[in-house]
Amino acid sequence: MKYHIDTIPVWDAVKADTECPLCALRRKTERLLVERSLGASVMSPDTRIRVNERGFCPAHQVMMFQTSGGNRLGHGLMMLSHLQTIKPRIDKALGESKGAQRSGGLFRRIKNDKAPATQSALSAFYDKCILCEELQEQEKRYAASLVHLWKTDMAFRKAFSESKGLCVPDTEVVLQMAEEFLSGEPLIAFKKEVNTLLSDSLKRLEEELSWFTQKFDYRNAQKPWGDSKDALERTVNKLRGWCLGNEPLQDD
Ligand SMILES: [Zn+2]
Ligand SMILES: [Zn+2]
Repeated sequence: MKYHIDTIPVWDAVKADTECPLCALRRKTERLLVERSLGASVMSPDTRIRVNERGFCPAHQVMMFQTSGGNRLGHGLMMLSHLQTIKPRIDKALGESKGAQRSGGLFRRIKNDKAPATQSALSAFYDKCILCEELQEQEKRYAASLVHLWKTDMAFRKAFSESKGLCVPDTEVVLQMAEEFLSGEPLIAFKKEVNTLLSDSLKRLEEELSWFTQKFDYRNAQKPWGDSKDALERTVNKLRGWCLGNEPLQDD
């Protein structure tokens, strides 16, 4: 698969020294996509058509709703247009289910076809999000760029080896991506590097989080925090991908 390689943001994210540069980039991208959704693209016919069809997931609705200086009118107009697009389709699906009620209601056809329950007649109206889809594209691009940089730029390789590595989910993403970009010795070396960084990080976080919990003991109240003050956030972010603490790459 061809990827558009974009090395500068990956370099910057590695230099930012977070628990995972790919998470930092994902979150920054997500913020930009949300801002863009509420900005000029509200009125763009192309975006409007895609929003009408796909809508936004709950997490991105929350981000749009809570964005400081958000755009309630823009958000409202997009949702009105989306509602008006899917309402007749939902009515139609409900109408079809009425006729099918005697033999099992909305899910009758699914049961008979042995399709997964998630493919119910209504799921098509709430299982898509244009921001999630764009974010997934960007995620692949940044993971590909990271592997490409590691392959071609020795200074990056050194900086990466001195970093905190990646979170658990993104470790898996880049290991899969590496199969497309690397082979032979470099592939083995890359896997070893990524695995070692994760393993060392988990060991470090265990110590930091342990001290974080011990700091709640009154006997340790006067002792220094060391690096443990945000160990809870960083441990969660390492295990599950960024979701807690300060917004990464905020000041760019
Ligand atoms: Zn990550
Ligand atoms: Zn979403």
